[in-house]
Amino acid sequence: MTPNRRTLLHAGVGVTATLASATLSGQSSGAHDSRSPEPLLANDAESRAAAAQDFGHIVDRRPRAVCKPATGGEVADIVRWAKAQGLKVAARGQGHAIYGRAMAEDGIVMDLGMLATIHRIEPDRVVVDAGATWHKVLDATLAKGLVPLVLTNYLDLSVGGTLAVGGIGGSSSRHGFQTDQVLELDVVTGEGVELTCSPTSHPELFDAVRAGLAQCAIIVRATLRLMRAPERVRRFQLSYPDLASLTADQRRVLEEARFDQLQGAVVPDGTGGWRYQLEAGVFYDGKMPPDDGALLAGLVDKRETVSDLTFGEDANAFAKLEKILRANGQWLNPHPWLLTYLPGSNALKIASDVIAELSSDDLGPFGRITYYPMFTDVCRTPLLRLPDERVVFPFNLIRIPASADRANAERLVMRNRELYERLRSAGGVLYPVSAFPMSPNDWADHFGVRWSLLREAKERHDPAGHLTPGYELF
Ligand SMILES: Cc1cc2nc3c(=O)[nH]c(=O)nc-3n(C[C@H](O)[C@H](O)[C@H](O)COP(=O)(O)OP(=O)(O)OC[C@H]3O[C@@H](n4cnc5c(N)ncnc54)[C@H](O)[C@@H]3O)c2cc1C
Repeated sequence: MTPNRRTLLHAGVGVTATLASATLSGQSSGAHDSRSPEPLLANDAESRAAAAQDFGHIVDRRPRAVCKPATGGEVADIVRWAKAQGLKVAARGQGHAIYGRAMAEDGIVMDLGMLATIHRIEPDRVVVDAGATWHKVLDATLAKGLVPLVLTNYLDLSVGGTLAVGGIGGSSSRHGFQTDQVLELDVVTGEGVELTCSPTSHPELFDAVRAGLAQCAIIVRATLRLMRAPERVRRFQLSYPDLASLTADQRRVLEEARFDQLQGAVVPDGTGGWRYQLEAGVFYDGKMPPDDGALLAGLVDKRETVSDLTFGEDANAFAKLEKILRANGQWLNPHPWLLTYLPGSNALKIASDVIAELSSDDLGPFGRITYYPMFTDVCRTPLLRLPDERVVFPFNLIRIPASADRANAERLVMRNRELYERLRSAGGVLYPVSAFPMSPNDWADHFGVRWSLLREAKERHDPAGHLTPGYELF
């Protein structure tokens, strides 16, 4: 039987017994009260074990119970109830965090998979529930000839999950982060209060929620900016002999705005060395593709690979790698990733030094180092921290070990910590979806001048400090 929300009640368990005595908003807490969260909680071993894991497969923190709310009201009920019980709460979208960030040891994990309705699509915006995946959002909007301005490379991430951290993708060099393309958010604060926030309504909460690591509120619904969908994407993969020539051409095409999407990577070449790749796409409509000669004029690479795809095919390209990794078991191995941004002024030097010390085993045969430039003036989310320069480089060690060896994963987590300290002292900044422990002092340092924005919003909207303990921020 497909588990129904209302069949998740597990009789005789501690959680529900405690719950029966809880009073929500002054209402009766009778078992069939529509505002009571009681039937939403599951504390069977299977549900708890699933919520104690994430894509990282490094951290294991078992919650006391898991719930699957289907409305904002249910989210609010659970948050208020958990607060009254002194329990921590973590929202979970698709569980692709990699270091326990959506976990709550002995608390409540709120799985938002049932909160996934696409409510409305208008010419310039879509209104979606936060548990919807970007895949679902794209399918719905594409059907109307529209697309979000920024998509992540992998689409099976939830809207709430990426808005909690930022959300970067191929078009970020043009349009910033997904958090920059949000028009409005419906949220439930740590106090269990339902609020709508935007640049004009509760703007301080709006700024604290986007890329705010789920510290002040749980996102229930988001209104996201849309643009007309390009019909096709002409995609280029250019190869370079070394990092310096790759960097030079990446900078050139960024400055000249030659492409609609710009990324790049350093990948193991299978013989112990590296391949240096520029990855870019141009959107076009109609039958006439853009002039490849003009797009590639003056660039170093002469062995380009060109493909011509629909927008949907291009956006789903990561699915091929996912299929391979699921088939060979590496999707379920530990993933000790390190994601950072380097200042444009010294990115080449820092990246070269780090890569020189890496072996292909540190990444795994399907791993890669993401490396490309982007402008910062299009990134306006206050809590999304970047080096204070006009151009920065995402520099990500996407480690996909070939084995599930725990000791190796732990070694790489420690290595991430060392690298983080080194990159930070060279002006680098963390993308907080990385696998290594951070202290509250590290976080204060990370948020820098914006730390007070987050701390004050936390004091105001989650004074009990019970939301999202996994980052260990406060
Ligand atoms: C294969 C893979 C590819 C990726 N590619 C990209 C990429 O291209 N670009 C990019 O930016 N990132 C990428 N990421 C990182 C990813 O964006 C983050 O890890 C994201 O947080 C995961 O989303 P999720 O839905 O799985 O969230 P979860 O892992 O479920 O949660 C992550 C965090 O978000 C919080 N959260 C979840 N839902 C909500 C909500 N509704 N309200 C408030 N907080 C919430 C959780 O509490 C937790 O702290 C990738 C990760 C993986 C594993």
